[in-house]
Amino acid sequence: MIPCDREDCCGCGVCSNVCAFGAIEMATDERGFYVPRVDMDKCRNCGRCSKVCPGCSTRPVEEYEKKVYAVWTRNDAIRKTSTSGGLFWELASSIVNQGGEVWGVAFDETLTPRHVCVHDATELKRLQGSKYLQSYAADCYPAIKEALTAGRQVFFTGTPCQCSALRNYLGKDYDNLVMMDFVCHGTPSLELFQSYLRTYVSPKYNSDVVSAKFRVKLTGWSGSGNEIQLADGSTYQADFFHDPYLIAFTRNYSLNDACYHCRYANLNRVADLTVSDYWGYVSRKFKYRNTNRGISMAMVNTERGERFLAGVLPNCVYTTTSLREGVEGNPCLSRSFKPAKKRDEFWAAYLESGKNFGAIAARFFPPRKKSFKGKISVWINAHMWLLPGFGQRLFYALKRRAKQGSVDR
Ligand SMILES: Cc1cc2nc3c(=O)[nH]c(=O)nc-3n(C[C@H](O)[C@H](O)[C@H](O)COP(=O)(O)OP(=O)(O)OC[C@H]3O[C@@H](n4cnc5c(N)ncnc54)[C@H](O)[C@@H]3O)c2cc1C
Ligand code: SF4
Ligand code: SF4
Ligand code: SF4
Repeated sequence: MIPCDREDCCGCGVCSNVCAFGAIEMATDERGFYVPRVDMDKCRNCGRCSKVCPGCSTRPVEEYEKKVYAVWTRNDAIRKTSTSGGLFWELASSIVNQGGEVWGVAFDETLTPRHVCVHDATELKRLQGSKYLQSYAADCYPAIKEALTAGRQVFFTGTPCQCSALRNYLGKDYDNLVMMDFVCHGTPSLELFQSYLRTYVSPKYNSDVVSAKFRVKLTGWSGSGNEIQLADGSTYQADFFHDPYLIAFTRNYSLNDACYHCRYANLNRVADLTVSDYWGYVSRKFKYRNTNRGISMAMVNTERGERFLAGVLPNCVYTTTSLREGVEGNPCLSRSFKPAKKRDEFWAAYLESGKNFGAIAARFFPPRKKSFKGKISVWINAHMWLLPGFGQRLFYALKRRAKQGSVDR
């Protein structure tokens, strides 16, 4: 049997670890998304794969009165190189300093994001920063179970569906495991990302790509974008208004099918902690007003999450905020994004072009022009910290209200 329908499959790979008959291996579909390939001749219909599959099974979550924090690390260098406020770094450091292990996503030498294990503070840099595409997680679940059974402290970070996959796979609660997910917009495929590097970025310099980073704070947190190093020493940089890969991502062309009706886009969190950007957070203290270096939102979902977070808060600047504010700033805590109207047209053109993202980028994702209204809005955003707190809160409340109902961002 197929563990779940293709449209519900997030490509977590956990099913390939539980089949006692070796009937499942992970492959990719024509758009490059990870999918299980089931050998029906070997399958005995035992149903084990469906039981662990986060596309159709989710274990009940702990009832807990959630708390929400606005938080950022006091370490300015780490805050600068983190996607949001660097909370991940603080949490992960506390685990490795106690001899535990951290599971998160790093690029390998072929620029494939994979779930890997880190024991050492110097290695944590590899995990830092969001990689806006599917990570290969299929082989991490048995290794994590082994570490937990051996009594080692484990900190696992991943998409909400990957956290659910791990929890289903383990089948019981372990006191030495703590999980952190994030508010998840969705994931494009590795193949699309590699095509973007090969057919869009590389030809600009006639040179190979050697490394890539997302959400580098090019002109600050709100002006972040991609930074890609090439073999000839050049650097490509482009923000969310100009980079076609990022436009395809934020405007919901390139996500996996399951991301458009994600069963984890709500407040029933599987992980102990949920983090995200805290757009629109306004500090009451003037010295913390300039938010352009990045702020994380941390939502505490379990008692264990609360204890874990409390251990690192002395290294952070933080304040509690309301659940309502946290949800307002993060649409994916209450619903999934709808696909872009021309999503199917985009994928058809991509496949017809011989998977040449560069050849169709200008047609589908031209640089987004900032209207006069847009420019004013960016200027106001950048100088908002000068306004009194009330003015800021009013501005963001009106902005959120104007955005409500808009899905094709
Ligand atoms: C695919 C994706 C979609 C996201 N969507 C949103 C969103 O819609 N709204 C929002 O506010 N925040 C979103 N985030 C989260 C946000 O980008 C930050 O990662 C988060 O705020 C933590 O920031 P930080 O500064 O604490 O740590 P960072 O240093 O950014 O921490 C990175 C952590 O994310 C993990 N990670 C990185 N890439 C992946 C990946 N591909 N799959 C699984 N885990 C990964 C790493 O293992 C590490 O634990 C998304 C992140 C990803 C990866
Ligand atoms: S139903 Fe059982 S035998 Fe068939 S693929 Fe799933 S786990 Fe394997
Ligand atoms: S969601 Fe995960 S477990 Fe379910 S079919 Fe897809 S890869 Fe397998
Ligand atoms: S949007 Fe949902 S299905 Fe897609 S990667 Fe995120 S948690 Fe998984």
